[in-house]
Amino acid sequence: MKGEATRRQVLAGGSLAAGAAMLGGCGENPIPGTLAGADWQRGHLLRDRKFPDPTGPIEDIGVVIAGGGVAGLAAGWRLAEARFSSFRLFELEDSTGGNARSGANAISPYPLGAHYLPVPNCEATALRYMLKQFGMIVGEENGVPVYDPYQLCADLEERLLWRGRWHEGLFPQQGLDAGTRVQRNAFDARMAQFRTATGRDGRPAFASPMALSSADPRFRELDALSFATWLDGQGFTAPTLRAYLRYCCRDDYGSEPEQVSAWAGIHYFAARRGWAAGGDGDRELTWPEGNGRLVHLMAGRIRSHIASAHSVFRVRQEGDGALVDVFDHRAQTSRRFRARTVVIAMPHFVAAPRVVPWIATGDFDPRGSYQYAPWVVANVTVSRPPEGKGVPLAWDNVSTASEALGYVVATHQSLSRDAGPTVLTWYLPLSKESPEQARKMLMTRRLAQWQAIVRDDLLAMNPDLTGAIRRIDVWRWGHAMIRPSPGFLSDPARHAAIASPPPILHAHSDMSGLSLFEEAHYRGVMAAEAALTHLDHAFESLT
Ligand SMILES: Cc1cc2nc3c(=O)[nH]c(=O)nc-3n(C[C@H](O)[C@H](O)[C@H](O)COP(=O)(O)OP(=O)(O)OC[C@H]3O[C@@H](n4cnc5c(N)ncnc54)[C@H](O)[C@@H]3O)c2cc1C
Repeated sequence: MKGEATRRQVLAGGSLAAGAAMLGGCGENPIPGTLAGADWQRGHLLRDRKFPDPTGPIEDIGVVIAGGGVAGLAAGWRLAEARFSSFRLFELEDSTGGNARSGANAISPYPLGAHYLPVPNCEATALRYMLKQFGMIVGEENGVPVYDPYQLCADLEERLLWRGRWHEGLFPQQGLDAGTRVQRNAFDARMAQFRTATGRDGRPAFASPMALSSADPRFRELDALSFATWLDGQGFTAPTLRAYLRYCCRDDYGSEPEQVSAWAGIHYFAARRGWAAGGDGDRELTWPEGNGRLVHLMAGRIRSHIASAHSVFRVRQEGDGALVDVFDHRAQTSRRFRARTVVIAMPHFVAAPRVVPWIATGDFDPRGSYQYAPWVVANVTVSRPPEGKGVPLAWDNVSTASEALGYVVATHQSLSRDAGPTVLTWYLPLSKESPEQARKMLMTRRLAQWQAIVRDDLLAMNPDLTGAIRRIDVWRWGHAMIRPSPGFLSDPARHAAIASPPPILHAHSDMSGLSLFEEAHYRGVMAAEAALTHLDHAFESLT
């Protein structure tokens, strides 16, 4: 299709600049909206080390948490659970939540990044404990958690635009040749084997959180090659299957199958064993504002400990504690804290070597092999919900003909889904360009150019939205998520962060190589428990 090829070119790699120029200059009425994103200026201040030295007396404190994304908030939540109150959480941005932040307008709250949490596995004990505390797990049936149905994604969860019609699910069910069907079944069978496999250490081959996965070399060796190479070797080459697997890699990792390890690619399919009564184990938890709901609940628990618009710019060990220098962006002053423990809950590319230089000890590059996938998210306010031939509107709506990942519907969970206005959250990982090229594009492309790309992609999926788009708010993530590239599991910088003893502890989803809520939460809780142990503060384990 000629029109489709043009749209693909616009969204894809090499011709992005040309496409953007073409779309930006179309001379149509401007679409209302905003262009925003993670605060680069504050980030670049850190890079350029442009902070004044602290003045005033040194303030003593038990724990400093440096970063208020899911990992930092989970660390604070865990400290509060243990009735430990001598801590402060500093967050560089004006609000906490990191990549799981949300926005809102008169129609609905909506996600700016993370939008769902799969029903957690049995091994995710602390996360389950927290969901129980938040009223999302409402009971047990024979010891198995029962989830509040209003927190689980309502029907229809997913639909796919394939050959002009919307179908349920994300993999085409009709019109496939026999070879593709055989390969799809064989792939599913292989993933089912991995899902139930255990290593020689008795652990599941693939667990969630990933730190609880088997270290058996039989599985760990899958980290040495790319997912694409593994798929080729296994004979999983059918284009429709590969397009689906590419979608999955880009959806969870913002990356191409060539860019992620086979271990990570398989983890996506083999690690999820959601533990829930009533057959709800394979479902997802979602809210209009996405994971922003969980962020607000965690932050609410520790509100008085949070200082936003504060950058932690220097951490130095001093005896068995640490000196922590913090810049207050509102007051434009720096302060120094003497903390008995610090939890570094910021991304690795910020922490090492800019903030925590001693991670450089050892004969490896402290920056490690960390690479980050950039993303664009657009919240599109429409005066009526999308429709289309085939199955009705789902929460997640994906087109096989688009380079974008489609859109989720913010009002999907509401009881009355009438024909009124709604907000569609549209996702595009910039996985084809190098991260540097993509970041440059994020910095230079104007709002109108992004809006034109989003609008054209949406209208190609849903021509019925013609005339219904009221505004497009674009959000840019320059370092959206860690890329689980081949070899990452054995990266010495990753191991140094994991093994870092008190007083300086690390907690971020980067340490898992998988940018997922479950991973960030686990890292935060583990760091908080290590801090409590270091501080001799008694606490009970969460079950
Ligand atoms: C577009 C997009 C979609 C996603 N979708 C999903 C999804 O649906 N489900 C899912 O599970 N995951 C999703 N994710 C992944 C998401 O990143 C993780 O789930 C999780 O939110 C990561 O939390 P974190 O705390 O590890 O990191 P971050 O979110 O990176 O938090 C780190 C925090 O540290 C702050 N910070 C940085 N430097 C400093 C400093 N010097 N001082 C103080 N603070 C600092 C940052 O501002 C940030 O708030 C998505 C991510 C993106 C970008």
